Amino acid sequence: MRLERFYVTTFKDLGVSAPILKALDAEGYSTPTPIQIQGIPIVQSGRDLIGLAQTGTGKTAAFALPILDRLAGARKHAGEKSCRVLVLAPTRELAAQIADSFRAYGRFLGLSTAVVFGGASMFKQKETLFRGVDILVATPGRLLDHVAQRSLKLDKVEILVLDEADHMLDMGFVHDLRRIAGMLPRERQSLFFSATMPAPIAELAAQFLDKPEQIAVTPVSSTAERVQQAVIHVDQQKKQDLLHALLNDRSIKRALVFTRTKHGADRVVRRLESAGFEAEAIHGNKSQGQRTRALDAFKKGKARLLVATEIAARGIDVDQISHVINFDLPNVAEQYVHRIGRTARAGADGIAISFCAPDERAYLNDIERLTKQPVPVLETDFSLKAPKDLKRTPRPKTEARGSMHPARKHASKKRHVSPTHGKAHAKLGHSPNHARDGGDRRDRKGNAVWSNTGAPAKRRSQFKSKFDSSR
Ligand code: AMP
Repeated sequence: MRLERFYVTTFKDLGVSAPILKALDAEGYSTPTPIQIQGIPIVQSGRDLIGLAQTGTGKTAAFALPILDRLAGARKHAGEKSCRVLVLAPTRELAAQIADSFRAYGRFLGLSTAVVFGGASMFKQKETLFRGVDILVATPGRLLDHVAQRSLKLDKVEILVLDEADHMLDMGFVHDLRRIAGMLPRERQSLFFSATMPAPIAELAAQFLDKPEQIAVTPVSSTAERVQQAVIHVDQQKKQDLLHALLNDRSIKRALVFTRTKHGADRVVRRLESAGFEAEAIHGNKSQGQRTRALDAFKKGKARLLVATEIAARGIDVDQISHVINFDLPNVAEQYVHRIGRTARAGADGIAISFCAPDERAYLNDIERLTKQPVPVLETDFSLKAPKDLKRTPRPKTEARGSMHPARKHASKKRHVSPTHGKAHAKLGHSPNHARDGGDRRDRKGNAVWSNTGAPAKRRSQFKSKFDSSR
């Protein structure tokens, strides 16, 4: 028997320094995750990197550990209103989490970390930036505000990290990112992370990166395999009662409930509270203070339920979420995988239960096609009969045909669209302007972006072969 087969890579083998090893020990990390094994040596080498990985794979440590070591190994003051490392993240929650991770992993190194995002005091952030920081984590909009007000310069950035690039695109940050790219020194290391790599993201990557190495872990469809899934066919009007009935099961210890719209999230929370269940809502209409309080209550177990919209929940890293409940099914199949992945963090298992109203059956069909597995049907007192053939179900109209991204037009030609459903969705506020936090994938101009429904087959295979050949 060959002993090498039992050889396990450790953080020490990867060349992580002693003070960081001590911090990782305190965090309870015993072995590196696959993205850390692949990514750390590349970051250490100073090369540019594209990492195809989603939140939950350990990607933050994959870039944070070697960055901290590099900064500690060549200490110097960043200079007033400057930073040595800039990390860009699409949401406030993710930015705060990344900054927390840098602080936790680097606690014995004496480096400074700051985070800036909208909705928080500009004045306090200016004070911090004035002194200069080693690591700055920022959302793109607030970063540009600081640059415009001359409280920050980007000409000293040595390493740039762009995290969750595909969500940046969803949220209309592409233009801001291009502006930021133009302000950075040419001589720098750039690291680019995205769960998917459709053409607009590949174009963005090309702008930021120079001869990057590419790595990929856990393809999006395989996350679903670790999660025990079920779908309940139910009338839209009965969903709330169904939720209350499920919650009587105390094995649901900590659940993240997804709704498609912000108003939907508020409505679900109001009704939960009046039925005596402790729940918090988190979405784009909440102030930063409200979002932090809601997340805290959920993390500390004060609220058993967090009701969230897709984008508000992105990157939220809460341990021990026992269940994900899709109160509404997402209209883009990959979002389903992202959502249910919240309950299977860092190798853990979890349960995902989805409520499927008759007009959401086509979405379920898309999800099953993406994950290449049927979602088992759970029968309850509230259940409708499961349809025999989901493929024939008409698809609700969620996109204005005229505003569709050209790449999607071809794919959607054959779809049968129900005019009634189109009206119903229009009423729910699915206009391009509502789409930012509503789970739709649109760019700033309101064009539908095909990233989550998958690239057209030809481009996808082109990307795949390009990617495979470079590994
Ligand atoms: P991320 O993908 O960076 O959001 O990380 C997902 C979760 O995995 C976080 O809760 C991390 O604290 C945790 N994590 C990251 N790396 C490791 C590791 N090597 N061992 C155990 N947990 C980890």
